[in-house]
Amino acid sequence: MLRFSANYIFPVNGKPIRNGIVVLDSKNIVVDIVDPKGNEKEYESMEFHNGVIVPGFVNTHCHLELSHLKGKLKQTDGIASFVSQIRNLRRVETIEITDSINQAISILEKNGTVAIGDICNTNDSFNAKRKSDIYFHNFIELFGLNSSEAGKKMSSALKIFNSIYRTKGAKSLTPHSTYSISDELWRMINIELKKSSSIASIHYGESLQEYQILKNRTGQLAENFNALKFPINLPDCSNPFEVVERFIPRTSQTLFIHNTFSTREEVLQLINHFDDSFFVLCPSSNLFIEGKLPDLPMLIELGANLAIGTDSLASSDTLSVFDQVIILLNKFPEVSFTDAIKWATLNGAKALNIDSIYGSFEIGKSPGLNLITDFDFNTMKPTSKSRVKRLI
Ligand SMILES: [Zn+2]
Repeated sequence: MLRFSANYIFPVNGKPIRNGIVVLDSKNIVVDIVDPKGNEKEYESMEFHNGVIVPGFVNTHCHLELSHLKGKLKQTDGIASFVSQIRNLRRVETIEITDSINQAISILEKNGTVAIGDICNTNDSFNAKRKSDIYFHNFIELFGLNSSEAGKKMSSALKIFNSIYRTKGAKSLTPHSTYSISDELWRMINIELKKSSSIASIHYGESLQEYQILKNRTGQLAENFNALKFPINLPDCSNPFEVVERFIPRTSQTLFIHNTFSTREEVLQLINHFDDSFFVLCPSSNLFIEGKLPDLPMLIELGANLAIGTDSLASSDTLSVFDQVIILLNKFPEVSFTDAIKWATLNGAKALNIDSIYGSFEIGKSPGLNLITDFDFNTMKPTSKSRVKRLI
């Protein structure tokens, strides 16, 4: 038995426990959670740490295959200029791509990430994933505005989907966004989603330009597509909600990524329409691409299921979920650490359907253990000096 204790244990499914102890067996499965209630005693094989212990983090939205773009893009004024910058970058050698993915995964392991929802447009990341003990849900992403190429897009996505083997985790086909998929491709995605009933993950409400292009085919995104002579065969929908309402089955568990510009009315529509909706916050990326964060108080007030992602190293200088928690706590001082840590752990695990193993300290789970140092016990929040140390 291994016993880990700290000033506080955050089991996440219950209140923080002062001087609590998490007991693990040799396979790192939780066998007990002890609340000493003031009667602390010494145990053999117990490690006591200064700080708080939380479960392993779940990064619900990442693009590992873009890791080689770290530091290569300029801060932008919207998604259109971000996409153009990526399009105009020189091609890089495969070895550079795979090295950067390996490096990113080893940093993720060190900073206490136990599971990742990762968007894949290629099979570049699969070898590296096979070597890691992180759980990956690979979302094979589809996009393309030219209806006549829909069949080609679907078959190449299926090829990537079928090339995943022996990775720890799950996989599903998923749409990129409401503004980048033709009517015909949406029909095919709809058929696949109905058939598989697996999780969908879609970039949603990330930019005002997304609302503009759907409303009347104008704005920077439309201009860029026109300049590139891309046909814009969008479905006949005038806003992002209409698109997802029509093409993502109500019963598909759906992750809405970003929600930077989603309105109260829209969030309510999404919550009411879908059986299981999750709203994934990627604050460092939102600040880089749009200079704006989602209306978090509104999302909390509406009872949205919140989770946390990092997006890619192209738009975020960090893949640490804890860094995202710190940004949110700094920008929204009314948010408690207890809530934010739930989004970073248990809610992410629920979003990826892995909460029977990850996300909280409960008997039978093996969620990983992270220590957060330099914690302020008066405010019950981390400080600027706080760091994450993976214990298990
Ligand atoms: Zn993304």
